[in-house]
Amino acid sequence: MSTADPQRKSDLLRRFARSGQSESQTGIRREHLLRALGLIAREPAPVTRAVIARRTGLTSATASSLVAELIALGLVVETGRAESTGGKRATRLELESDAYLIVVAVVRTRAIDTALVDLAGRTVESRRLDVTGGMEVSTVVDAIRELTDGLESRVLAACVQVPGVTAAGVVVDSVQLGWRDVPLARILESEIGAPTSVVNDVDAEALTEAVDADDRAIRLVVHLGEGVGAAITTGGSLMTGATGRAGEIGHVRVIYEGARSRCRCGVSGCLESATSMSAMLGDTYTDELDEHDTTLLASTAEARERMGFGARALARALRISSALIDPEEIVIAGAAPALGPHFLGTLRDEYEMYPAKGTTQVAIRYGRPELSRYLGPAKFALAPVLGDALPLTQAR
Ligand SMILES: [Zn+2]
Repeated sequence: MSTADPQRKSDLLRRFARSGQSESQTGIRREHLLRALGLIAREPAPVTRAVIARRTGLTSATASSLVAELIALGLVVETGRAESTGGKRATRLELESDAYLIVVAVVRTRAIDTALVDLAGRTVESRRLDVTGGMEVSTVVDAIRELTDGLESRVLAACVQVPGVTAAGVVVDSVQLGWRDVPLARILESEIGAPTSVVNDVDAEALTEAVDADDRAIRLVVHLGEGVGAAITTGGSLMTGATGRAGEIGHVRVIYEGARSRCRCGVSGCLESATSMSAMLGDTYTDELDEHDTTLLASTAEARERMGFGARALARALRISSALIDPEEIVIAGAAPALGPHFLGTLRDEYEMYPAKGTTQVAIRYGRPELSRYLGPAKFALAPVLGDALPLTQAR
């Protein structure tokens, strides 16, 4: 475990601050450092200074100076000697995954889950705070301060996940929390002294699904819970839209037949009115239910019938969405995996039954519940500091 060094952290934040001028010396140096760090963190084979020089096309003097700086900033350590193919044995380099920490807070109506995640994606500590009455901003601030107490010089970045619309560090509108235009990132940054991001639930889930993506694949992630939402990622990055509302498909009307029912938004025939977990499993369903109880609710004949209807409505929405964005895969996440293979099978059948000319068949799968829910927010937190250099692939 590295010793905490406030100076080193501020050096690191300054070095990786986006200058906005990627053509400048500072910008180019930053790109080179991130490239070298990415190689060290991602390559399965031992990485040495010579490997960095070879893979980046930089001189060995530049590669050595990049490594020296990454070591000084506490991001990289030397770990013994690599096998040599002749000549003197070179020093192996590895990510120093526990020198810095990422703070994640998942804020819901009645609870805040906070966690510390290391640079390899491991959750090193997590806590839950149950909240009665309304959720106050000060409660979130206190929960994070309590978690990071004494660790300030190691906290590199933070991310708060909230239900609702978010944009550029602001909770624009969260009906669930009763918050409007709350500049949460700015408030927290001054409290904990680290860059802070704010992400919406569904976007965080989509980032978790893409957490080990080092390709540029486009993924459409659809969240099914009490509500319905979607998010699009390219590689490990989110497509947020002009106002942070990309993927708000829940209240798009997709049912015109007589069977449509009224949605909680007041309109009838919305995607959510047919495909939300509550629409399919009844009002007993809440987002707090565990997988086992959700599966039980899904086992009745009545639920099965509503799941068939929900699958048809969702297939219709997916047809249009995927024709528009041409994704590599569609991931059905949220509580949906608890619905089991029958729902997914029906959804695939419905989706494939009416292929749209000119489009390709897209694979549909469930989300991966084995991934830690903190990975997506941690990745989002790190983006303004270290870009997507680190893979954060550790399962919980
Ligand atoms: Zn609606």
